[in-house]
Amino acid sequence: MPGTLGEQSAVRVWEEGGVRLTFVVDGAMGLVPHEFFPTIPESYWAAHPETLDEHGLVAMSAGGLLVERDGRAVLLDVGLGDYQGPIPLGKSVIGYADSGSLPDVLKSVGRTPEDIEAVAFTHLHVDHTGWAFTAGDDGRPRKYFPKARYLVADSEWAPHGRGELIPGAPPRSAVIEPLIPEHTEIADGEEIFPGVHALVTPGHSPGHTSYVIQAGDTRVIAFGDAFHIPTQISNPGWPSRPDVDGEAVLKARATLLAELAKPGTLGFACHFGDQPFGRVRTGESGTSTWEPVPSTVLQPTPRLLKV
Ligand SMILES: [Zn+2]
Repeated sequence: MPGTLGEQSAVRVWEEGGVRLTFVVDGAMGLVPHEFFPTIPESYWAAHPETLDEHGLVAMSAGGLLVERDGRAVLLDVGLGDYQGPIPLGKSVIGYADSGSLPDVLKSVGRTPEDIEAVAFTHLHVDHTGWAFTAGDDGRPRKYFPKARYLVADSEWAPHGRGELIPGAPPRSAVIEPLIPEHTEIADGEEIFPGVHALVTPGHSPGHTSYVIQAGDTRVIAFGDAFHIPTQISNPGWPSRPDVDGEAVLKARATLLAELAKPGTLGFACHFGDQPFGRVRTGESGTSTWEPVPSTVLQPTPRLLKV
């Protein structure tokens, strides 16, 4: 059954039509509500204590979505990496993390890093690229998924390729520089794996990308960080602090909400507490809400936040 918003996500699996989607949880993140969501009024959080964890933080797990079909496997994003401590953004501390379980969780579902044929990034932020590279014996970064193509939307890569600094991006030397020779650029609409298409939804980052996964008769849209919390589905005008283009975020959210409202469509949300799989319902008032759908818990969340 679905969990609650105040908890970190369990390792959950959802399956249909021979397609298996597993949230390979890397770790726990807790974001300070007014730091990460600067325009959401304090009165909202006070009226909705169920949206916060026991520390008063927004529970957001980091990890990757393992997509398996016909014995093949790809990962959409690769978590935060082995990290415990505060999460800085600019000069602020915007939250706390305890992460680093992705390798163990992957192993527990019967997969090795060599099995992954592609890693497709929703965007190049620190909590989505954590396991892309790890330090080898010589200290130099090496691909953690040695046989995988690393797929990035062309518009997401472009500013990094020009050497620009993007808020929320991982350290250049550890991730961006090793990606220069190792990444493959993909275009909006491209099929990156059988039945999985890129849908570029920019705004949170320059080329933020959602992925539309066909599983039997159901489409599952992994929408990355276009929405960080379910409240933004009901209030799409509420931004997240690292968003680089507020107008584009509004457009991306409108596009995604229209797609998510279509029959036979589910969403995958990596940061929605313990409710990663759900559908969007639109009421008579026109307000959309996130309704978690059942998924199977393979194991409890591998990390709990220590604040
Ligand atoms: Zn994120």
